[in-house]
Amino acid sequence: MKRILLLTTGGTIASRLTDEGLAPGLDGAALTHHLGGLPDSYRLTVRDILHLDSSNIQPEEWRLIARHVFDARNDFDGIVVSHGTDTMAYTASVLSYMVRNIPIPVVLTGAQLPIEHPLTDGLDNLRTAFAMAASGWGGVFLAFNRRVMLGCRAVKTHTTAFGAFDSVNWPLAAEVSGAGLSVREDAIPPADGPCVLRDKLCEQVFLIKLTPGLDPEIFDMLLRMHYRGVVIEAFGAGGLHFIRRNLIEKLHAAAQAGMTVVVCSQCLYESSNFSLYQAGQKVLAEGVVQGWDMTTEAAVTKLMWALGQESDPAKVRRLFSQNLCGEIRSAEQRPITGSGSDQQTP
Ligand code: ASP
Repeated sequence: MKRILLLTTGGTIASRLTDEGLAPGLDGAALTHHLGGLPDSYRLTVRDILHLDSSNIQPEEWRLIARHVFDARNDFDGIVVSHGTDTMAYTASVLSYMVRNIPIPVVLTGAQLPIEHPLTDGLDNLRTAFAMAASGWGGVFLAFNRRVMLGCRAVKTHTTAFGAFDSVNWPLAAEVSGAGLSVREDAIPPADGPCVLRDKLCEQVFLIKLTPGLDPEIFDMLLRMHYRGVVIEAFGAGGLHFIRRNLIEKLHAAAQAGMTVVVCSQCLYESSNFSLYQAGQKVLAEGVVQGWDMTTEAAVTKLMWALGQESDPAKVRRLFSQNLCGEIRSAEQRPITGSGSDQQTP
């Protein structure tokens, strides 16, 4: 019998209609009751750890979830975490770093419609998550709409559609079909060491989506506010303006002042490559790191995590640039072609 732990945190899946709109009100017992029983092969334990809309899930809650996951790793064959969809990709990404090399599957899931709704997708999502949690494949995953993806590659791409998440720049880890759950082994990076809980984070990380003409002084303001890291979603494969408003000069100054600057693309699919254009090459001086094909969620949480582990900016940059759990591939590692998860190869 597979021992599965269900950790509930709230979200739409556990929500009921209140006078103020949908709010999480159901516990894990209610969620599993609606499933009408799980396969006899699971021995289920339920722990209700939070009752939150995921908009309120922040670094404090990430640490709590990580601690529960880490502490349970030797007592269960797999863990399912029910979670709101809005910030699930951030939680899935940060957990991938905090409990890196976890030997059991940790599967986040949720729903677009509450479990009590007659047309809910929550039942399917929970069933897929339980199947993946029982699969024996270690790592952090996100299960939604009969598809399972690496937690660090998941992005919420739709507000209401049942296929709310995409696996960006990486193939699906598993999929449910008429043949049951098919796991794609080569899409799951193997562990490369023991699992250690590393839950220190730096919250002073800012995300900027570049807009034409953005005032470079924004970086002075971030430094005054003691931000230690910034992720910049630049244009296309990698471009920033430097005529009239010289962003590049400002970025170098911010890096000199000790801020870790990550540059990536505001395109969802494929990789940044700042060496392609003059407008990008200029930025690749000492102190600026490329995000390559990382998702924004994976980049922001990785920077928070890396700054939590190291204080020396050079070490932060080195840690950030390493591939820890399948979240990053540089141009040298493999040029990415096509778009959409189905066309990707790991
Ligand atoms: N606002 C909800 C949440 O993220 C949305 C959802 O769960 O789908 O908690």
